[in-house]
Amino acid sequence: SAKQSGRNTFRHFEPSMNTSALKTLILQHDLQRALEEGQLSVSFQPKFRIADRSLSGAEALLRWHHPDLGDIPPLEFIPVAERSGQIIQIGDWVIKEVCRMISDLDASGLPAIQIAINLSPIQFNLRDLVERIDDIVRSAGIAPERMMFEITESVAMQNMDKTSATIQKFRAFGYDMAIDDFGTGYSSLAYLQQFSIKQIKVDRIFVQGLDVHEREGLALVSTIVNLARALDMDVVAEGVETETQMERLASLDCDQMQGFLLSKPLPAAAFQQFLSGVAGLSHHELQP
Ligand code: C2E
Ligand code: MG
Ligand code: MG
Ligand code: MG
Repeated sequence: SAKQSGRNTFRHFEPSMNTSALKTLILQHDLQRALEEGQLSVSFQPKFRIADRSLSGAEALLRWHHPDLGDIPPLEFIPVAERSGQIIQIGDWVIKEVCRMISDLDASGLPAIQIAINLSPIQFNLRDLVERIDDIVRSAGIAPERMMFEITESVAMQNMDKTSATIQKFRAFGYDMAIDDFGTGYSSLAYLQQFSIKQIKVDRIFVQGLDVHEREGLALVSTIVNLARALDMDVVAEGVETETQMERLASLDCDQMQGFLLSKPLPAAAFQQFLSGVAGLSHHELQP
């Protein structure tokens, strides 16, 4: 097969070529087939309101199960797909999958939650990005309000005027926006105010700091929460793994959380099952 011959080609590379360069080539080559052969999937990680632990939404996270190499983490293959440009096609596919999930949820009478999708730098810099996304979403019959798009702080700060314009365009089309991995890059606070951002996601590193360096950790997260409050944005803590972290976030009045403590990212079927449980619970609560 083409795949087999592709593998053989790689086997004859110069021994001087380092393994990471080789791996990059293999991944880039195999990614092409991954989409066609259904090796990619989207998992969904729930987000919760900290005050009452109710469901506030979910984030779509790309998964690749390679037939020989097993599960490959997104942090390994997404940079490869960005360099090769494959991320554009893969990104479109993720949006379609999320549309399909939203249609399925609606058809099953499950909670009409909003689902967040991560955008890579290459996607975010596409001139026609918003139109491109909106075409996919509208052909699927999904309301833009059901989707949020996440860009990392470092991407947002690359060209702040352009970022501001693109976010405005997303908003004009009806989509919400979030700043991901907040606190890890350099933010110009003045510009942050210009962005019509719905949500700030506090990077996991600060959440871990709540356990490790209690006083400094609290001060840092508290600063981010207060900043978000002042700018009228929601704050979501990422990567919450312990009860202690959750309690400290609650004491700081952080709005929402996401993390292994309450739920790992779930494959589509498991996520629907999880939502049925949530729906069942609220139905039960409505009973006299
Ligand atoms: P992210 O958007 O910041 O996503 C959060 C990451 O943290 C996810 O890793 C998630 O599985 C992980 N996580 C969630 N809760 C916990 C926790 O309690 N502890 C720990 N240790 N980790 C937790 P994942 O799925 O490996 O994704 C990594 C990154 O890859 C994402 O970071 C995002 O930047 C990127 N990514 C994932 N899916 C997509 C996609 O569809 N498109 C693009 N462009 N990027 C994606
Ligand atoms: Mg994200
Ligand atoms: Mg993040
Ligand atoms: Mg991250």
